[in-house]
Amino acid sequence: MRIFSGIQPTGRKHLGNYIGAIRQYVEGQDRGDPAIYCIVDLHAITVPWDPGVLRTNVHDTAAILIAAGLDPGRCILFRQSDVREHTELTWYLAALTAHGDLNRMHQFKEKSAKQRELVSAGLFFYPVLQAADVLAYKAHEVPVGEDQRQHVELMREIARRFNERFGETLVEPEHRIPEVGARIMDLQDPTSKMATTGGTAQGTVYVLDEPETVTRKVKSAVTDSGTEVKRGEGKEGIANLIDILAVAGETTPEQVESDFDGSGYGDFKGAVAEAVVDYLAPVRKRYEELRPDEGALEEALAAGAEKARAIAGETLAEVRGAMGIGPAND
Ligand code: ATP
Ligand code: MG
Repeated sequence: MRIFSGIQPTGRKHLGNYIGAIRQYVEGQDRGDPAIYCIVDLHAITVPWDPGVLRTNVHDTAAILIAAGLDPGRCILFRQSDVREHTELTWYLAALTAHGDLNRMHQFKEKSAKQRELVSAGLFFYPVLQAADVLAYKAHEVPVGEDQRQHVELMREIARRFNERFGETLVEPEHRIPEVGARIMDLQDPTSKMATTGGTAQGTVYVLDEPETVTRKVKSAVTDSGTEVKRGEGKEGIANLIDILAVAGETTPEQVESDFDGSGYGDFKGAVAEAVVDYLAPVRKRYEELRPDEGALEEALAAGAEKARAIAGETLAEVRGAMGIGPAND
């Protein structure tokens, strides 16, 4: 069972990334053979970016992932741009990707609507690069948040089309979306997902936020005019906090509802804030220890890239051979 997932080094990682994705990465590293996790700097340049900050963000993200529990000795952790096979495969897969399918992608619609200057072709092409990321490793499982369901469907379609046209070569990957916490919502706008691109500042809890900041953000979360700590119609804000507490407190949404039956929103929010602070505290502490040693982070990423290249290189040779690209394989 091969596991692959990618995470962007855009800005700081937030609680949605942690609960929807990073938590699953850690869980997958002993199931995956191997588990491969990629810091996708090439995806980060599909929206405006600062070249100086991008490198720093890769180190921040690597340190967060290791602090969260990824062990570069037990998984393959690397930077996307270090393995050129991803960009090469993107072009081959582009030949099999329907323009109409890319046009239907929700993420493109949402992110392009938020761009004030350039809507880049890269943003439109994002899902093809993402398909290349996964298919290059013949991964069986892709741990992601709910927002990536459509992109995983598309990569399955691309793999299927490739195999039908050129013979069984690529693996159609399955998404792995958590049952609880697959879509953590913005605390100030509980109808939109907590996001790096286009989220609200007060509604986004960062993994590295100070405890006081976490508490302030959770306590000022938008809820509803009711009083019941229950999920339901018009209660997106409360439902979101219930999910967050279920994950951070290692329980279930049903249990949270029953624990807070009869409690007011104030007490409930206080409990959520406390649980999130405790949940993130050890990660923040380890991050502070790991982040200063950029040499060690670069070494870990370089070792990961070498292992990744060995796998992706094999797939690329097969793909080129099957497609009739370059000289015949022997
Ligand atoms: P952007 O808004 O720029 O796309 P992002 O916040 O979605 O950034 P990514 O690096 O694109 O961050 O996503 C990394 C992983 O986190 C993906 O698997 C994605 O599905 C997951 N994820 C992102 N936001 C959430 C969320 N609000 N709830 C649960 N999972 C999420
Ligand atoms: Mg995203």
